[in-house]
Parts: sequence; C-alpha cells; structure tokens
Amino acid sequence: MRELNFVEPGRLEWREAEEPRLQGTGEAIVRPLSVATCDLDTMVIAGRVPYEGPFAFGHECVAEVVDVGDGVGTVAPGRVVSVPFQISCGGCHACLEGRTGNCTETPRMAMYGLPLGGSWGGFLSDLVRVPYADAMLVPLPEGVDPAAAASVSDNVVDAWRTVGPQLAEQPGAPVLICAGSGSIDLYAAAIAAGLGSERVDFVGGRQDAPQLARKVGANVLEGGFPERLGPYPITVDASATHEGLACALRSTAPDGVCTSVGIYFEPETPLPLLEMYTKGITFRTGRVHARPAIPAVLDLIASGKLDPTPVTRRAVEWDDAPAALAEHLEKLVIGR
Ligand SMILES: [Zn+2]
Ligand SMILES: [Zn+2]
Repeated sequence: MRELNFVEPGRLEWREAEEPRLQGTGEAIVRPLSVATCDLDTMVIAGRVPYEGPFAFGHECVAEVVDVGDGVGTVAPGRVVSVPFQISCGGCHACLEGRTGNCTETPRMAMYGLPLGGSWGGFLSDLVRVPYADAMLVPLPEGVDPAAAASVSDNVVDAWRTVGPQLAEQPGAPVLICAGSGSIDLYAAAIAAGLGSERVDFVGGRQDAPQLARKVGANVLEGGFPERLGPYPITVDASATHEGLACALRSTAPDGVCTSVGIYFEPETPLPLLEMYTKGITFRTGRVHARPAIPAVLDLIASGKLDPTPVTRRAVEWDDAPAALAEHLEKLVIGR
C-alpha cells in the first residue's frame, strides 16, 4: 500500500509499505478518508522540533472501517469514525479513569504519525491498524462532514479541554487565549464562544489569526503579548512562547485555571511562580487525553455549536499531499 513518509524537513514522499493486518481479537483496519495536519506537524516539517525521518505521517483523521476482527462490537465495515491519535486500550486503570493518553497497556506516548511509543503507522496511508477498536473508534454522528471533523482526533479535543470543562464549571465566564499554535488557539476560541463564554479575548497568533478569530466569535486584542490582561477565570496558552505563557499566567484571576497546550522543547521554561502562588491559580500542562473528549466535541459539531471549518486554511487532494504539506505550513485537510 501507499504511505506518506516524512523524510526530512521540507521533504515528504509517498512510499510503498506493507499492508497492516489484523493481529488479534478486538482489532480493526480503517481507511483514512480525511486527514488534517496537527499544529505540531507543521513544526516537524519546518524542522523546528527534533523528530528524525523517515516515518509514516499524519495523526488526525476520519476514516472508514474496512475490516474488524473477532470481538469487535461497536463498529462494523462501512462505519465512518473518528480515530484518536493516541493508542489506548480502554481497560487499564488509567483508561478507565479517562486518562487514555497515559494508557498503561501501550508504550508511553504511543501514537500514530510520529516516532513515539512504537510504530503504529500514519493516517496518510491507504490502511491503518487500530489495535483496540471498541475502545478507540468513535462513530461520526449523522450529518457531520468527515472534512469538518478530521482534526477532532487531536487538535480540536486539545482545544476543548482548555475551555470546555472549565466553562461547564463556570458558565459564561470570560476567556483569554494567548495564540500562536495555528489551529488549537482558534478552535479554543470557537469552542469557548459556542459554549457561551461572555467574552473570548484573543491575543497573538499567526498572521491570518485575527481575521479567523473574529470569524469564530472572538474579540481580537491587537499587538503582541502585554505583561498582563484581564484578569480572566479561564486562560489558555497556545503560544509556545515565553511571553505568551507569562501573559496567560499573569492574566489568570485568583483561583482561576490556566491550561497550556504549548510544547516547550527546552529543558527549562520560566514561570511567574510567585504570582501564581499568591493568586492560587491552577496551571495545567501535558498532552490531551484525546479519546474521552471526542464524543463531547462531535456532539458540539453535530449540534451546530462548533464549526471547525473556518480554521482549515486549505483543502488538498490526497495525491497532492507531499507538496502541499511541504509548501503550506498551516492547517490543511487532505481528502479523498
Ligand atoms: Zn498532534
Ligand atoms: Zn489503557
């Protein structure tokens, strides 16, 4: 079968790979239909993060189930599903508590599309093996377009966890988003607006971010990151910069919650700990637990409260993926 490989920064290639086969009970084989680029993918292609090729690429998709093994009860061939980027068993104590990103039955960080926690293939492939099909796969609700939901595997749920549970606890609370990631920042703005935040302030971000942020219902604050804003009970650092992180933390109200989705590859990152301490804020970092958040996000899309489509910068034909990925370091959805 054909599989897209990241070879080196700026270079991706279709290569022949062995077709994955069912290796035991409870497994499924899926065919990706619509694949989105993760914000991290663009950094990998740009050579800004330390992953060495070649490896199978792509870890956000909606796919069609083509085969299931014995013991699979929730999906059958023909079903269109969201596939979480993380491999999780659904049955270990971590998975049962909803911490599927730290499943104890799979190698640490096991995921598709990056060389972490084993070799699971990538979603820009003809076929992909899903080892715990009942636990992992989530059928798409009626009427949800695969292209609109492609990024639900990772970036949309990553955005949801920064504002969704927080707004459920504090309905209507204002939200600050310190932007920069490319899509998670905009998804967070769209979700906060859709969930009824009274004001979603959006600062920073890529060149086209202000225009898109307005489109998804945010209030754009011009200029770079000031020392502080607000304060806000809910803040998000999606900047992966020291200035954005400090601004989000200093702008968090007493007893508020700041969630950082930024990946800081340096060994040490400065934090305004004294201010955080005196205000008693909660700071969350770490990978999203993707699987348990997927149904909530798909419900938001199905109900019309969230439309992820404005965040996608370009729709790309499947065959054109290598050149498009190398040339456009932005949110793409690749479909067939
Ligand atoms: Zn990702
Ligand atoms: Zn598990």
